[in-house]
Amino acid sequence: MSDNRVYSYSAVLMGSPILLKLCSHDEAMASRVFQLIKRYEDLLTVNRAESQVMDINHAAGRHPVTVSRPVFQLIQCAKAASMVRDSAFNLAIGPLVKLWRIGFHGHSVPDAADIRARLALTRPQEVILDETTCSVFLQQPGMELDLGAIAKGYIADRVRDYLRQQQVEKALINLGGNVHTLGEWAIGLKKPFADAQALIGSLTVNGQSVVTSGTYERYFEQDGKRWHHILDPRSGYPLDNELDSVTVISTDSLDGDIWTTLLFGLGVEKGCAALRQRQDIDAIFVTKNRDIILSSPQRLRFAPLDSGYQVIDCTA
Ligand code: FAD
Ligand code: MG
Repeated sequence: MSDNRVYSYSAVLMGSPILLKLCSHDEAMASRVFQLIKRYEDLLTVNRAESQVMDINHAAGRHPVTVSRPVFQLIQCAKAASMVRDSAFNLAIGPLVKLWRIGFHGHSVPDAADIRARLALTRPQEVILDETTCSVFLQQPGMELDLGAIAKGYIADRVRDYLRQQQVEKALINLGGNVHTLGEWAIGLKKPFADAQALIGSLTVNGQSVVTSGTYERYFEQDGKRWHHILDPRSGYPLDNELDSVTVISTDSLDGDIWTTLLFGLGVEKGCAALRQRQDIDAIFVTKNRDIILSSPQRLRFAPLDSGYQVIDCTA
């Protein structure tokens, strides 16, 4: 028997609320999906003492560490994104993330000297990869990988693959801002710094990934300023530009997760220019001035829901 009902299942994993929507009541399936996410969290987390990524971090400046092929490939992909000229994405950002502690207990604005010292430990070219042995070596003691800006995207793709393999035709997974879909769904875009339920618009996608990075997701206030969790690898401080959030629409969530960070670093103008070269990636920028900028109004099925915001075409 089939109906149009949607069944929601939730969990807390990776310090984030996880939501799975299925079109049939299937607790066993939901539980297998959450177990799959948990398995990847255990491999990739840097928020506990042990994981494959932590093994690499613990051996920094001492010796290479062999990891499983999927973990190696994810690190390889994260390094490639980090080596792009002027990239805001940096897989070796760990020492700075740990210094700021944004979104965790004990956050505060660090001393400028401490930030400078840690910046010297975040060079992506000092992450040495050996494909034949699947090993990763951090050249300086104190270096730390942090895959927080890419791992959720990778995991969302693995959930998509699993559901497909199980012949599920329609489902949605939300890993706290990383949404992936099978079939058609309308996805709400959060209003920055408002109630959790407040939306600025709704985006309809079919089988695509929708990843949002927002400064409102994790931040604290000090000295009359908001300090958010997306750090500028060039300065060591939170990225400071016109943006409140960037949403990326793509086939794979891995690309979406990388591109939200890249576009955050580029800002609206350079970001739109970069996207003109990429037919496979679309974005929705939301600015502090309450503009919503669509990279491709022809392709994006976006409906505004808040009259306080104005929608602008990237090509305008
Ligand atoms: P994105 O914008 O996609 O990424 C921002 C995150 O990436 C930052 O939080 C930081 O970790 C890192 N980062 C910051 N600047 C840069 C940069 N310039 N380049 C590259 N990376 C950058 N949170 C908890 O509170 N407790 C947990 O136990 C916990 N465990 C986690 C385990 C895993 C496997 C993962 C993937 C995440 C976990 N998190 C946990 C959440 C994590 O700390 C980040 O907050 C989260 O991944 C941010 O994702 P996002 O999509 O909101 O932001
Ligand atoms: Mg990201």
